[in-house]
Amino acid sequence: MFENLSDRLEGVFKKLRGHGKLSEENIAEAMREVRTALLEADVNFKVAKDFVATVTQKAVGREVSGALSPGQQVIKIVHEELVELLGGVTEQIELDGRQPVVIMMAGLQGSGKTTTSGKLAKMLKAKGRKPYLVPADIYRPAAIEQLQVLGERLEIPVHPSTTDIKPVEICHQALKEAEVRNYDTLIIDTAGRLHIDEALMDELKEIQAAIPLSEVLFVADAMTGQDAVTVADKFNSDLEVSGIVLTKMEGDARGGAALSIKNITGKPIKFVGIGEGLDDLEVFHPERVASRILGMGDILTLIEKAEAVVDKKEADKIAKKLKKNKFTLEDFLDQIQQIKKMGSLDQILDMVPGISKLKKLKDVPKPDEKELVKTEAIIRSMTIKERRNHQMINASRRKRIAAGSGTTIGDVNRVLKSYSEMLKMMKKISGKPGAITGVKRRK
Ligand code: GDP
Repeated sequence: MFENLSDRLEGVFKKLRGHGKLSEENIAEAMREVRTALLEADVNFKVAKDFVATVTQKAVGREVSGALSPGQQVIKIVHEELVELLGGVTEQIELDGRQPVVIMMAGLQGSGKTTTSGKLAKMLKAKGRKPYLVPADIYRPAAIEQLQVLGERLEIPVHPSTTDIKPVEICHQALKEAEVRNYDTLIIDTAGRLHIDEALMDELKEIQAAIPLSEVLFVADAMTGQDAVTVADKFNSDLEVSGIVLTKMEGDARGGAALSIKNITGKPIKFVGIGEGLDDLEVFHPERVASRILGMGDILTLIEKAEAVVDKKEADKIAKKLKKNKFTLEDFLDQIQQIKKMGSLDQILDMVPGISKLKKLKDVPKPDEKELVKTEAIIRSMTIKERRNHQMINASRRKRIAAGSGTTIGDVNRVLKSYSEMLKMMKKISGKPGAITGVKRRK
């Protein structure tokens, strides 16, 4: 996400930091480069121009603060303005108003509506809501089935829509059904087309006129850059869009859509899709994303992810075991599973400040998902006794474990060695209370 822009801005700021004092000329030069960087990231021309004008005005006019160097001051202003450009504050979807809440997903075909409907239903279910998925695409064969399959996987009910009933009628029936069955959140997955056409718009307008919608989420593929912005603008002028979901963000190194869409449409990005998996949906936080773009990392998201997957009781149990030096390979396996739930190693590392720079260095080892998988396979090939007492794993057992996990004896040795080293490290710090409990949970 945003890698190209990050790289470019980093170069600009590096030069700025080198100056003890900044003249207007220094700032103007830096801003020319910022503008080029934004344009290369496929940001709308006018948006880039206005952005640079605002930053320049603020940078030239601002009192020099004692705490920040002139260069840092400019970076701070760029950060503030990036936050604004991305929408300012985090905008949540409306769940408190009229019940049941009805969310309509709209967008072109292939933008990710159906997948996002499933992801959103999963996210809301985890928050204690009772979602009801409503397929309302009666044109694309298999569209209804696609949502049914997702619903089955997620154990979330799906309305039994059929292709012989008009979408608006499907929505009416689903609303009635939801009231009878006490579902509190309807997610309507509408039809898309390859291009905007009148029939599509009329159908969506008909639903909007007939059904009390709490949210109309426009779903767009971030990889399509300015096209996504143009289409969003058109949808928003025909329908009252309440928020935007940008999908496929993980593959978008430029970020032009994310940086222009709020400014052009006036509507906030509420979620971003960051992968094909059903957990790959994130609430969009402008502040955190701006920090990520400027290489400042995103510790808050990291903590939230950890909190979402780490069970407090389990964490306390592990902490106790670590203190008593009873952390076994079985516990090690549990920890690997917790990490895997947080996302890919790359996704996790991207949120740590400074890592983006480290990752670019040639001699820094890249996070290797395969190593994690290998380690897991190796521990799984051990007997329970072995997992609880690693000292009994002699040469012949190592050979058996390697064969069982499809790895080599060298691999098994490596896992055992890093486990032993971890134990040693734990021993050293276990005297300090609280030193190993990891992420603190917020009350
Ligand atoms: P729809 O036609 O708008 O309903 O689009 P789909 O939900 O069928 O999605 C189209 C394709 O995009 C599917 O292959 C999805 O798996 C994929 N997709 C959706 N969201 C994301 C995302 O955030 N990241 C990636 N990489 N793929 C996505």
